[in-house]
Amino acid sequence: MEVHIITIFPDLFRGPLDYGIVRRAREAGLLNIEIQDLRAFTRDRHRTVDDRPFGGGEGMILKPEPIFECVESLNVAPRDQRVASRQSVVLLSAQGKRFDQKLASELSELDRMVLICGRYEGVDERVGAYLADREISIGDYVLSGGELGAAVIVDAVTRLIPGALGNEASTRQESFYAGPELGGDSAGDGARPTQAKPDSTCGSGGLLDYPHYTRPADFRGMKVPEVLVNGNHEEIKRWRRRSALEKTASNRPDLLQSVPLSERDRELIGESREQ
Ligand code: SAM
Repeated sequence: MEVHIITIFPDLFRGPLDYGIVRRAREAGLLNIEIQDLRAFTRDRHRTVDDRPFGGGEGMILKPEPIFECVESLNVAPRDQRVASRQSVVLLSAQGKRFDQKLASELSELDRMVLICGRYEGVDERVGAYLADREISIGDYVLSGGELGAAVIVDAVTRLIPGALGNEASTRQESFYAGPELGGDSAGDGARPTQAKPDSTCGSGGLLDYPHYTRPADFRGMKVPEVLVNGNHEEIKRWRRRSALEKTASNRPDLLQSVPLSERDRELIGESREQ
């Protein structure tokens, strides 16, 4: 995948995209990230990227001209051909569609992605209306700029590019993953045809991941649950599913609305309530 990030602060990307899985994906040629300095697309000697808002009001707005010129320099497909050509121009915006694992999965299918990072009071509306084909928010809060959001998107998307993780199965098993179409698992037990073997580290089935522990089994008196140390495979699987259900019910009950629960899940929820 080719990713272009348009920003007025290119140096902000020194670091976040140079480590771990993203770095390995870049080194393996699975991901090519180009940082585009928006100021390079200005024409005045002050390299002005912003201007006052029409109608008055606080703050400055990123001007449309440099952003349009930057995207045009990348030879991106016209808006109406982007889906067919597996390209997308994304405007980072607090008003955008909320980023989630399903959207990350959709973006991971792209060949080219351009991320436009806003700053100041935002970006001239024509960028969202005529240049970008989607607006994405990374959460219901206001950041000072789109750069951290762009880094979040690149990180989450990279994990889903085939070959980016050593263990292919692990993305399918993490929190939020809900089946090949991300539409839920009719079996509802976290196991699905293309999913990892039952002895893999987890199987979220659209729930939050279950708790993980490593050695020592007793750390300052805080003990690893007995079942993980001494349990058999079936007991461990059951414990993990129950823990994932409990954690989801406690931290993200909204997710339970979209996860089809199996009979066994209902039994496990019942067991938790009894305890
Ligand atoms: N006036 C805007 C509003 O109230 O929605 C906020 C502008 S914000 C200070 C500047 C830039 O940060 C935005 O143009 C956008 O690119 C980025 N940004 C802020 N919050 C964001 C979020 N939750 N997700 C993605 N980008 C965000």
